Amino acid sequence: MAPDKKKVSALGLCSGGLDSILAALVLRNQGIEVEWITFETPFFSADKARRAARLNDIPITVKRILPTYLEMLKNPPAGYGKQMNPCMDCHALMFRLAGEEMQSRGFDFLFSGEVSGQRPMSQNKNSLRYVEKNSGYDGAIVRPLSAQNLPVTRPEKEGLVDRDQLLNFSGRSRKPQLELADRWGVKDFPSPAGGCLLTEKGYATRLRDLFNYQDTYRDAEFYLLSCGRHLRLNADHKLIVGRSKVENEKIEALIDPDMDVEFRVENCPGPVSLVPNGCDEATAKQAAAICAGYSKAPAGDPAEVLVIQGDRQTTLTVMPTPPRDNKPFLL
Ligand code: SF4
Repeated sequence: MAPDKKKVSALGLCSGGLDSILAALVLRNQGIEVEWITFETPFFSADKARRAARLNDIPITVKRILPTYLEMLKNPPAGYGKQMNPCMDCHALMFRLAGEEMQSRGFDFLFSGEVSGQRPMSQNKNSLRYVEKNSGYDGAIVRPLSAQNLPVTRPEKEGLVDRDQLLNFSGRSRKPQLELADRWGVKDFPSPAGGCLLTEKGYATRLRDLFNYQDTYRDAEFYLLSCGRHLRLNADHKLIVGRSKVENEKIEALIDPDMDVEFRVENCPGPVSLVPNGCDEATAKQAAAICAGYSKAPAGDPAEVLVIQGDRQTTLTVMPTPPRDNKPFLL
């Protein structure tokens, strides 16, 4: 008996959105075995992709890629979008990493849910080409939702994919996707917008500041950028001050007791505050006064602030700084 012919298999980049889901289903409907890969950094999470994988019964590999991502993020050859989002090089990097996975695990080709012309910057025909060329997998990436509007790919030429069963979506309208989802009974998918902190103005400002003043970073420092007030005190130090119970808890959970200095106002409710990576005495006094200024300590009276670093605890007595005086430091 002749051995079973190996089933064609494809590895898709998954964002967890409807386009990713439909792209996988277009291929699966023509008998191709599909799996997904997705990437995680402090700037974007893989939660939506994990959920889509569970709901659609598609195996998924999640990779954390921060060090590799940072190398690209600090100097993206195609530049940034409106904020710190290097979308073209981000896509190219993800396809490169997906391509390495494809090769090591023996998939036949890559695919994604990109739709030509859907995003003016990152999904026009030129940027799809840029991504493909710079990923190192030129010709191996099938975009099932838009394939009929795009050049024929190697998998189509080799008969691994039937081009006639691929689609010709283009442009910004979501109507064709929503109609297809309805027809195929795909009901559970997230809204397309958002999810990447690099596109957010406030986050981008803080990230630029971090890159300006530091050469090395802990993962926690990127998570901290999205919570609390951030005050750049001097070239070596910044202060992070919680604005709510939730933020206080988040900051608390991200503290590295061996590295960071924590400030807590004694005898009255106040924020959890933190100077990452240690500080000198003058900075500690400044930070303690600012922290007290955001607490319920009576304005104009001295306040006691506990300064904690690892096993060491000291108490500083400071005059609370009125929050209005912090404007020049706020990021
Ligand atoms: S929005 Fe963020 S995750 Fe998406 S391509 Fe751009 S940089 Fe990458």
